[in-house]
Formats: sequence, C-alpha cells, structure tokens
Amino acid sequence: MELIFEKGAQGRKLSLLPKCDVPEKKPGCERQKALRLPQLSENEVSRHYTALSKRAHGVNDGFYPLGSCTMKYNPKVNDEAAGLKGFTDIHPLQPEHTVQGALELLNLAEKSFCEITGMDAMSFEPAAGAHGEFAGLLLIKAYHKKRGDEKRTKIIVPDSAHGTNPASATMAGYEVVSIASREDGCVDLEALKAAVGEDTAGLMLTNPNTVGLFDKNILEITKIVHEAGGLCYYDGANLNAVMGVVRPGDMGFDVIHLNLHKTFSTPHGGGGPGSGPVGCKNILAEFLPGEQTSQDGEENYHLFRPENSIGRLRMFHGNFLVVVRALSYVLTLGREGVPEAAKNAVLNANYLKHLLKDDYHMAFDGLCMHEFVMSLEDLKNELDVSALDIAKALLDYGIHPPTMYFPLIVHEALMIEPTETEPKETLEEAARVFKQILKDAKANPQMLHEAPTTTPVRRLDEVTAARKPVLRYAFAEATEE
Ligand SMILES: *Cc1c(COP(=O)(O)O)cnc(C)c1O
Repeated sequence: MELIFEKGAQGRKLSLLPKCDVPEKKPGCERQKALRLPQLSENEVSRHYTALSKRAHGVNDGFYPLGSCTMKYNPKVNDEAAGLKGFTDIHPLQPEHTVQGALELLNLAEKSFCEITGMDAMSFEPAAGAHGEFAGLLLIKAYHKKRGDEKRTKIIVPDSAHGTNPASATMAGYEVVSIASREDGCVDLEALKAAVGEDTAGLMLTNPNTVGLFDKNILEITKIVHEAGGLCYYDGANLNAVMGVVRPGDMGFDVIHLNLHKTFSTPHGGGGPGSGPVGCKNILAEFLPGEQTSQDGEENYHLFRPENSIGRLRMFHGNFLVVVRALSYVLTLGREGVPEAAKNAVLNANYLKHLLKDDYHMAFDGLCMHEFVMSLEDLKNELDVSALDIAKALLDYGIHPPTMYFPLIVHEALMIEPTETEPKETLEEAARVFKQILKDAKANPQMLHEAPTTTPVRRLDEVTAARKPVLRYAFAEATEE
C-alpha cells in the first residue's frame, strides 16, 4: 500500500479557510525550506485512512482475547463524555475557580478508585502502568527513607510477574530478588519466608497472577512481608477479575497502580494515551507525586502538593481525558455493575477454558479467574507446530491472537482472556476455530507454518521489526522547494 507521502500532487488541498488578511510577521527564525507535507484532497485523505483501518484488526472487528492486557469493548458513551467541551477546551494553568468541574472530576475519580481498590489516596499523574509502578516504588523508597531505614535495598518479585515489575524496581534503584512459583502457579511461602529480611523494601505482586489464578495464601503473603518490615505493592494493571468483588487494600497491599487503559474503558496499544494512577494507604499519601485535589467543606476544590511529594513525574495532571473516560465507565456501571462485569469476565474465561480443555493442554487445572494459559509444548514436540503457528492461524479466522510466550514459566504458552464483553456465541465460535486449527495441524503441520494466508501481510520478521525498526520515511529524491 502506498504511503500518504506517495499520494496526492503538488498544490492539491482543501481550501476551507479564507486567505490570511493580517500581515505576516517574520521574527527571523522561520523555516528556510517548506515542510514536505503530503498534499491531498479531502477525498484522498479519507480513503487513505479508511484503507489503513481495514488492514488492522481492532477490538471493533472481532474477538480479541489478549491475556494479561485486557482488550475489551469500550462503551462509546465514555468517549462522548471525554469529548465534552468543558473537558477538552480547558488548560491546566487556568485559575482554579474556572475549572472547578475538572477538579471535582479528579476528586470523584480518586474517591471512586480508592473505593474499588481499598486505598486511601490516589494520583492520576503517571501515564502508563510501568510509570505507575515506578511511582509506587518511589513511594516505598520515600517511606523507608523518612523512617531512616535505608538498608532496605531489595524488592521481591515472583518469577511469574509481568516484565515491567523487575524493570521498574531496577529503575527505582532496587535490587530485584526473584522467587520461584510453585507447581500450581502460586507463590511459594517457604521461598518467600527465606527471601524476606532486614533488607526487604517490599514485594511486588499481581493477584490474580499472570497465569490467571487467585493466590489462596494472599493474606499470609502480605503478612510475611509486613512482619519483615517491607511494604506490599499490588500490580493492578488488570483489575477485570476482581473489581468490586475483592479489594487489594483488604488483602494487605499498601500501594497499587491501575491501568485505566486496560480495564477502565480506554483501549491500549498503538502508543497511547494511557493512564497508570498510583494509589496508596494513608502511610504513603504524603509522598504522592504531582498535585492532589481537596475540597473546603461543601465548597470549592483546590489543588495541593502532598507534604513530602516525590515530585513531578509528568506535566500537570496526567492524561486527564483517560480519567474522564474511566470515571464515566465506573459511574455508568455503578455499584452493582462493576462487580457484575468482573464476575462475567471470570465466567467467560472459565466457559472458554472448559470448551477447550479436552483438546488443548491447560497449564493449570481448576477454576481460573479472568484468563487462562494453555501450553502447546506437546504439539511443538510432536508435530513441530508452535504457539506462534496457532496464533497466526487464528488470524485467518478473524480472531486476534492471544498473548503468546507469556508468562515465561509456561513453555509454548497461549494466554487467553475473553473478557466480559463477549457473548456466549463468540466464545463457542472461538472454541470451534481453535479445535479446527488443531485438526488442521494434525492433518497437515506444514499448512500451519504458512498461516496466515488471508491477511494483508503474511508473516512479518518480528525480530528485525523490533530490533531495527524503520521509523523514518526516506524521500526518493532530495527535492528543493
Ligand atoms: C500491561 C501490564 C503492565 C504495564 O502497563 P503499561 O501501561 O504497558 O506500562 C504491568 N503489569 C501488568 C500485569 C500488565 O498486564
């Protein structure tokens, strides 16, 4: 497909605006050469982007069971809320009394998400999940430092953790201690007891964990860490299974981040914008980044900087419109709807797991939470058909591949998260497709190596794409204008 730079012609444009009737002011630092922007008619632009959109598979096209990264249908009404002029046409440097509605929204969002997570305070400044993790770890660091307890240099992270956990801990200046998971995918209490000590700053945990299991020993785990003087960090990137049902704060966690761009009505991928608010218990609130909102009595809202704030992590108040969408989502679902969504997410995952369990090898038995992991190791050994091959074959049936090769503790992993927004028929159709692909693999393994065959592009060289990305367009000839 041609790039937009290769389309159009010199001088072609849409002239809606009248000619400028104000003398042009030339301060002397203007461009020497005109920018080489594409010049197209409105019609060409519209067709170009429509054609591009048809070449991508999005959540509005079909089933998108991307485990660990909740990709679900986001109600359009929340986009409308985020598009209201009162939210879009304001500036963060406006006087407080002119943006009372926006401050009230941040305040209500803080209260709502504290209620959902069992935390006491929250900052919406971080722009993504990993950014929220980094913020949360700095809170832990500030806490120990203020107490003069600076020998705590280690963060414990189970080996099933999302890759951002050890990365964030390292960025925050901590040494990462990895502990192995048990056969059943849960934290090994003995290994944890052996790992904690006077140098433990904290533990980072995802629960339900990355294999979709709710750790039965969660209260014991947070107790062990607290008794050793450490704090507990909850990776709340995926709250789909538990929102409104159980609260990380009640499980003993002191600090959490959420990914509003997974569970709370903003789709993710493609570079954002995201929002990774960091929430905490009262003991850490004085360290929160950026500015918080408060209200005097029933009156005006104000911004204030927490007393011992770790500082600013991003300008102003984070990705404000993502917070608008998230609050709109939570308020439209309401107190009954939020847990209902979580329960349906768990039900859907278990239904699909049940439909597939006789054909595919499940990495862990029993009930799962919002996602489950299958291992294709046997298939790989027997027929040389890999998790990648199956994932690619799904594309030919209009299904986006599940998360592959994660978590690392399961070999040839496919991690499936259907979410609550899929009807029963979609799950049954997906199960039929998975079974058909397995049949095809057994009949003709070579066929699977060639999938996908019906997509705009076939198999990409993903390694080269990641290692040597071509991000600039090289113009054919260096024309002067
Ligand atoms: C997605 C995810 C993250 C990271 O979030 P980003 O917004 O991509 O930085 C962290 N932890 C878990 C469990 C996740 O699924």
